[in-house]
Amino acid sequence: MIWNETIECMERESMRKLQSIRLKKTVERVYRNCEPYRKRMQEHGVSPVDIQSIDDIVKLPFTSKKDLRDYYPFGLLSSPMSEIVRLHASSGTTGKPIVVGYTRNDLDIWNEVGARCFTAFGLGQQDVVQVSYGYGLFTGGLGAHGAVETIGGTVIPMSSGNTEKQIMLMHDFGAVGLACTPSYALYLADAMRDSNIPREEFKLKVGAFGAEPWTEEMRKEIEAKLGIKAYDIYGLTEIIGPGVGYECEYQHGTHLCEDHFYPEIVNPETGEPVVPGEMGELVFSTLTKDGMPLLRFRTRDLTYLNYETCACGRTSVRMGRILGRCDDMLIIRGVNVFPSQVESVICEMPELEPHYFIAVDRVNNLDTFEVQVEVKEDFYTDEVNKLLDLRKRILHRMQSVIGLSPDIKLVEPRSIERSQGKAKRVNDKRKFK
Ligand code: ADP
Ligand code: ZN
Repeated sequence: MIWNETIECMERESMRKLQSIRLKKTVERVYRNCEPYRKRMQEHGVSPVDIQSIDDIVKLPFTSKKDLRDYYPFGLLSSPMSEIVRLHASSGTTGKPIVVGYTRNDLDIWNEVGARCFTAFGLGQQDVVQVSYGYGLFTGGLGAHGAVETIGGTVIPMSSGNTEKQIMLMHDFGAVGLACTPSYALYLADAMRDSNIPREEFKLKVGAFGAEPWTEEMRKEIEAKLGIKAYDIYGLTEIIGPGVGYECEYQHGTHLCEDHFYPEIVNPETGEPVVPGEMGELVFSTLTKDGMPLLRFRTRDLTYLNYETCACGRTSVRMGRILGRCDDMLIIRGVNVFPSQVESVICEMPELEPHYFIAVDRVNNLDTFEVQVEVKEDFYTDEVNKLLDLRKRILHRMQSVIGLSPDIKLVEPRSIERSQGKAKRVNDKRKFK
């Protein structure tokens, strides 16, 4: 099902025209209403008249996470506070939070894009959807909540935590959809098993998972454990929250709502646009937001774009899976390592649970790299030989995927800390040395 066929299946040429009109308006708006933007554009030697079409976007300066911190809390608003009806904030990984203000119109846009997502996941008016993203300043909970209400579904505003109750209500209320982080989905899968309620008694069919990177292999694990179809939903606070992109039934890339959020891919070091299809840093410009429009915001997320029409009929651009954030990349003994690569190796081995932890340190000027991973109950035998053999096979795969052999620490099932929101799977102690 398609929520907004006119837009989601619009001819590319018409989409570009729409984007051009909207970009022009947004640039005029921020130039008029937001002093830091006006100054930045003047310094950059560009004014609103220079922006006539979407192709002119490259003339504009970038916006970074640092800008949001520097103008904390309200310096980047383009609407007066009297028109701001909601605030959200993201703790980020370091320092001050990032604050975003929404007007009534911005909330409508958010609900519209959210509705596109949940419709693409096959959910509709008849369906009960449990929202187990955290509610509060984090955009996950309220974002998914608005989306489910907009499609006319029945929302269970569960938030995260209280796992036993999650399972009880999911069962008793007949939830068909579940929205949460992929790591919390795994946690709930274990809790479902522990509840001793037979799987057939649950109606759960579909998951809307996002807010953190997850691999194709992790998808398979979650689908098998929960017995559902797991869809990707993407978003970030600065742009709007969940709903910036979503997968369709073909699950071949994440469709972006490019009539509202214009994507570009640039080289993360130089900021230059990459050749179409090449991997790089995702950059968004909001085209319709009033409260806090952002131009060329550097997401730090690494991915690539595909402009071919999808088998589902949508013409909207699709992005590949997020490899990770530029700032998540570990450089270990000179080799670039993404946690997602470690995850893909772990999830492809049937003896292992999809729970892992990466510890990096520097001892005597040498990087140490340890991966702790849980062995499945059935394989966690006392037979040392079997475990030694398993470790050897993991090492072999890691070496061929990453080009580096970590110290593998096989641990008991359920010994690695579980996450109810975004998982923390890396501890790089070198940062503090
Ligand atoms: P924080 O910076 O506190 O994590 P956000 O909640 O705004 O704040 O997180 C947005 C980021 O989460 C994105 O930039 C991206 O790195 C990650 N993310 C969100 N959804 C997905 C997804 N579906 N796949 C991969 N990464 C995602
Ligand atoms: Zn599609």
